[in-house]
Amino acid sequence: MDFATAFHSAAENTTDERTRELALNLAAVHERIDEASVAAGREDRPQLIVVTKYFPASDVRRLHELGVRHIGENKDQEAGAKAQEVGPLEELTWHFIGQLQSNKAKSVVRYADWVHSADRVKIVNGLHKAMEKEIGEGHREQPLNLLLQVDLRDPVPEDGRGGCSPKNLKALAEAAASSPHLRLSGLMAVAPLGEEPEPAFARLATIAEDLRADHPGASMLSAGMSQDLEAAVAHGATHLRIGRDVLGERPYR
Ligand SMILES: *Cc1c(COP(=O)(O)O)cnc(C)c1O
Repeated sequence: MDFATAFHSAAENTTDERTRELALNLAAVHERIDEASVAAGREDRPQLIVVTKYFPASDVRRLHELGVRHIGENKDQEAGAKAQEVGPLEELTWHFIGQLQSNKAKSVVRYADWVHSADRVKIVNGLHKAMEKEIGEGHREQPLNLLLQVDLRDPVPEDGRGGCSPKNLKALAEAAASSPHLRLSGLMAVAPLGEEPEPAFARLATIAEDLRADHPGASMLSAGMSQDLEAAVAHGATHLRIGRDVLGERPYR
């Protein structure tokens, strides 16, 4: 049974109204992923990460019950509290996808299995040290799966807010690859505002290819949100980060 069919049937078999809503939204998103994958002639299927920022731990539990195993969060404080409230659930994987300050590294490695947003050497070093401590204290065994965030704005402004400039990526990748506690796994990017996502994701695909030439293990590509999922799949995204189209409009805070 494909994902969409499975989620449609889960929607029919629940008495919880919110679970039903989530299941129907998941079915619709998986239909889009299927169609985009066929249109792109892809045989592999991108992994859906459901972004639960601003939504409660109870939704994460509902998603898990529906079979979702990959959860994304973008604020350390919210994510840490939520992961603790959810507690250990079978095979549940937390992806940290938000902007990161190096003083948050210690906190993030307590719950995140993946970090998508390393964009400076300082962050990489912070995560290395934090992981060294976690491993030393016996809290973790495996290296942290790490993606480097690239800034797709063209030209890249000097504000340093949207990821690593492509021209600095090689040095950043070297820093990550030199840590035994980090597993350099690929790249993450967000389509720039005010530009069509296709050309931006096309640039990303080229940047990813260059990175793989130096680091063959860095084969993951985290790109695509609710609005631009299809463009990301067309340009080789292996991981999609979808919030709104699964959870609904984010509550105003
Ligand atoms: C919130 C967020 C997403 C999900 O965006 P939606 O538009 O809700 O699908 C993806 N990536 C990052 C980095 C985010 O912060």
